[in-house]
Amino acid sequence: MVSIIGHHLINKEEGYQILLYLDPQLIEVADEFDESFQNKEDLRQVVNSYVKNRLPDLKVTVIRVVLGSLVIASIPLLPGTEIKDLDSSQELNLKTEVKEVFENTPQEIEKDLLLVNKNNSLADNYTPLNLIVPEVPFIFKGFHEKKLMAAKAATALEELFAAAKANNIELYAVSGYRSYQRQEVIFKSQVEKHGLLQANQISARPGESEHQTGLAMDVTSPQVKFKLVQEFGVTKEGQWLKEHAAGFGFIIRYPEGKDAVTGYQYEPWHIRYVGQEIAQKIASQDLTLEEYLA
Ligand SMILES: [Zn+2]
Repeated sequence: MVSIIGHHLINKEEGYQILLYLDPQLIEVADEFDESFQNKEDLRQVVNSYVKNRLPDLKVTVIRVVLGSLVIASIPLLPGTEIKDLDSSQELNLKTEVKEVFENTPQEIEKDLLLVNKNNSLADNYTPLNLIVPEVPFIFKGFHEKKLMAAKAATALEELFAAAKANNIELYAVSGYRSYQRQEVIFKSQVEKHGLLQANQISARPGESEHQTGLAMDVTSPQVKFKLVQEFGVTKEGQWLKEHAAGFGFIIRYPEGKDAVTGYQYEPWHIRYVGQEIAQKIASQDLTLEEYLA
């Protein structure tokens, strides 16, 4: 039986394209996916249940199934189709021609320690794998790209928020994944408003935002009126977050007094997933990611 080991989202104007990666150890099944009706229905079921579980609120235009670096099947959808409306009425085409496929397939990447800052930028086509929406309270309703996070970080965030709640700490998520293209729009509007020099200080250039990794989340609380302000750092919630984030694999990425190292002023609200072991090392030694990796 086929299984899906990861996915990639490509944000296009009219909706998302989803790439689903099949387990490459099943490479021999490639030939089986010819005209066999049985296999086709099995594949459709695996595809439907994977995307419905992980990406229920996404609007999509096409789902492509990738084996190795080949697209072996696709389900083209009407623009604006939501995943939750998928059923068996959409055509699943087998052996479609190869189109744009990312080279970094899931088995190649383990990027918890990805360093992104003003000296280390990401390419415009860098999209993290396995973006999903964590089940935590957000400050806004409905689906938006910024609700997404890489799956491992999303799961860790759910655990962090659950622990906070159990301790009567009310946390809300504000903004996670941000594509290169959206950062480009944000940066341009900052330049128009404030000029290039100031825009550089308050906003990241495209490719230089850690939010593009899918491993970061901005967090706030009702006490600071759901804003992202330094004051959050001295609230009960901000203190709790600083003390407990590492236990769940997160660091306060831009700590106080480290502007010269990180290139950013103090941001008590911006947490970054690096994995539990490393987060605990970084927190206990008062380091930044830059210093840890140096
Ligand atoms: Zn942030």
